[in-house]
Amino acid sequence: MGVGLCGEGAGERLRALVRTLCDGPANRLQGASDERAWGEPLVGFAAGDDPLFAAYKEHVGPHHWAPAEALALAHPELGALDAAQLTVICWVLPQTAATRADSRQATAYPPERWARSRIYGELFNDHLRREVVRALEAAGHAAAAPVLLPGFGTVDTARYGPASRWSERHMAYAAGLGTFGLCDGLITPLGKAVRLGSVVAQVAVPPTPRPYNDPHAYCLHYARGTCGACIERCPAGALSAAGHDKRLCGAYVGATRPYVLAHYGFEGYGCGLCQTGVPCEAGIPEGLGQGATACITGQEAV
Ligand code: SF4
Ligand code: SF4
Repeated sequence: MGVGLCGEGAGERLRALVRTLCDGPANRLQGASDERAWGEPLVGFAAGDDPLFAAYKEHVGPHHWAPAEALALAHPELGALDAAQLTVICWVLPQTAATRADSRQATAYPPERWARSRIYGELFNDHLRREVVRALEAAGHAAAAPVLLPGFGTVDTARYGPASRWSERHMAYAAGLGTFGLCDGLITPLGKAVRLGSVVAQVAVPPTPRPYNDPHAYCLHYARGTCGACIERCPAGALSAAGHDKRLCGAYVGATRPYVLAHYGFEGYGCGLCQTGVPCEAGIPEGLGQGATACITGQEAV
């Protein structure tokens, strides 16, 4: 997988690389069964000089890395990078139907599959990040997975509370993969019960069109003034019509650790109840997001 990741058809070859890795043996919940952690992924691309990245510096905060900054941290030997020559490769990993079904039944604690996908599924996501970087570098393209860089972390911000230096959700938004919901999760064509990942690389890939201008286009609360189902699903009172209280949410998720250890026998945690039993669980709510899937699969948007 070390050749042919640039030039004509580069996007399709990178999509195929991510899909092949997701079909591999590392994509497992690592439980008693040999179940996949994640279903079939979606992949999108954002241009390294997309104006959104400058906007993130303003709206999310100056701490948020632009693609060129993240790649320069991994490859200082390259000197000043031309953002126009960079691409952010983003993917959506959907929870399986079995994991979602278990979660829909839960009212307080994560079911075992969900807790496993949070821990072992994210280990696979890191493996995917490393393997995509490895394949790109083997083909001669400098690459980095920003969330795996030593300087990655969160900073406390007055406006948003703890905020990441590289938000996978914001990268996926830039790559045409979805828009934000009331609970802050990204609503994608595969729904909101997903994990996200990305790699930045010095490689030319046509960006995926964004079939939206509104960052909340796929959320019924913002688009229609209806729904709010995720508010009812939250056991921590962290969601309201005003949005997502990250501190309450984070405290609740952390407090699930003893439950996960006692019931499932591994060090883990999780919640995500707001991602299931809701209209955006496994797709964009009906009537919103026309053209979204077509854009991502490379067909003409409607
Ligand atoms: S459950 Fe409803 S209100 Fe909440 S994010 Fe999904 S569409 Fe928006
Ligand atoms: S992850 Fe859990 S605690 Fe956090 S907002 Fe969703 S339902 Fe609430």
